[in-house]
Amino acid sequence: MTNDRALWAGFMKSAEMFTGRPAVVAEGKTLTYEELRERACRIAATIQAYQDASATPLTAVFAYRSPTAFAGVLGSLLAGNGYVPLNRTFPVDRTQVMFARSECDAIVVDAGSLPQLDKLLEESQKSLRILLPDVQSVETLRKQWPRHTFAGSNDLAASSDWREPEARPNAIAYLLFTSGSTGIPKGVMVAQRNVTAFLDYMVERYGITEKDRLSQMFDMTFDLSVFDMFVAWERGACVCCPSQKALIKPGSFVQEMELTVWFSVPSTAIFMKQLGMLKPGRYPTLRFSLFCGEPLPVSSASAWLEAAPNSILENLYGPTELTIACTLYRWDPVTSPDESELGIVPIGYPYPGMGVLVADETLREVGRGEEGELLMNGPQMSLGYWKDSEKTAAAFVVPPSKKDVYYRTGDRVRRPLGNGPLTHLGRIDFQVKILGHRVELGEIEAAVRKACGSDGVLAIGWPATPSGYGGVEVFIEGESKDLDGLRSTVASGLPDYMVPRRFHFMGKLPRNVNNKFDRKAVIHLLEEGL
Ligand code: AMP
Repeated sequence: MTNDRALWAGFMKSAEMFTGRPAVVAEGKTLTYEELRERACRIAATIQAYQDASATPLTAVFAYRSPTAFAGVLGSLLAGNGYVPLNRTFPVDRTQVMFARSECDAIVVDAGSLPQLDKLLEESQKSLRILLPDVQSVETLRKQWPRHTFAGSNDLAASSDWREPEARPNAIAYLLFTSGSTGIPKGVMVAQRNVTAFLDYMVERYGITEKDRLSQMFDMTFDLSVFDMFVAWERGACVCCPSQKALIKPGSFVQEMELTVWFSVPSTAIFMKQLGMLKPGRYPTLRFSLFCGEPLPVSSASAWLEAAPNSILENLYGPTELTIACTLYRWDPVTSPDESELGIVPIGYPYPGMGVLVADETLREVGRGEEGELLMNGPQMSLGYWKDSEKTAAAFVVPPSKKDVYYRTGDRVRRPLGNGPLTHLGRIDFQVKILGHRVELGEIEAAVRKACGSDGVLAIGWPATPSGYGGVEVFIEGESKDLDGLRSTVASGLPDYMVPRRFHFMGKLPRNVNNKFDRKAVIHLLEEGL
């Protein structure tokens, strides 16, 4: 199979072969392949009807866990565009920045996200096309916003008007914004060929068939959601999406949906273990249990396997820039405990065609058994950061003694001895994982500096959990300020999981011998019970 095919091609083939089978469950509704194709093709045809050659080849999808979210993703791709997922659970100011930076001309919006649309329209310099498949009458919106074009459910083009888009070698699949250390989210451009290379390996490895039912625990603003949708659709399987409410009862969801493939961050397993949801034998329908996104503790893997005894458990690893996941490790109860380091399951072996370099600070390969930064390249290496050649050049580099570009992951790993697996040891920078979400502490510091006017700000991941951190606390140099005001200003620009739980004011922040702010000293204060 070649990975130059369009990302939508697998779905369309499944829609031919498995017309009446379920493609997605969302908001408690099941859509068959035929129904999802119909909705997606109508969205695609409507985008195509308006789009001219000069338009940005991206469509924003402002939809959350709804049938329109899934139809919007497919519709954007079928129109020949990449999709830009937007999330109404983020502060609208942040969504607005992402939307403006993407320069999208068109946006698909579901009913639940509609109340936040005004903010995006108010700030937009462009004349936008807004597709509202869940809304019948858009007359009021047309009157309110004469500058923009609206298409409600009755105005969408017929699915038969859809035309197969022209193939382009670097066509974008999605543009995903991740936390940026300088305070502005970075847009990672992932090409369709990156994703199809990933999918080819995954669907074969897991032997996915039309009988499978996959979880969708990830929001679409997290790239791991791409696995759920497209692995399922490549082979006629069903992706089962819990509502925001059902997300807090993942055990019942597995049982009610009779899931066969589970995919989540390890934090979910840790949470389920704490709440007694991992009783032995509880999830017999699962044949694969997959984790990714943050370190997987050995104890969580063992507990999960007892609860899902018929499943094979794998730990996947990868940054957004290397397309979803690029190394993996199959857990073996006999050999894995010895292969694990620091109580964390190894990240394993690279995906087919992916090159690995474990390097020191000069980007030269370290010796076997030594630790260094993980650099990788190959068919899953993304196109870089949207409209940011500087950041792209800093992260996508040609190491000395190499001829090809590699992506610097910033992850600290051990170069294996012999044929052993790669083990993950931590980060070389100030990126942390908070309940699986990627967070640059620098971005939180920038938001707090702006809100309080002090230059001395340190953000610390706290408390530590087995897989990352439970939250963030900040230390601010200066006089104590109006805390409620500060918190609400900071919260207006950051998603919930990035908002500091506590703000500590100090006359002077501790400094190290080089007169830099001393993180270790501040962490020590927290350890002492501050
Ligand atoms: P994201 O781009 O949000 O997927 O975050 C990527 C980062 O998450 C990686 O660079 C790692 O630091 C971390 N990560 C992802 N998967 C794993 C894993 N299996 N074990 C340890 N860290 C992981």
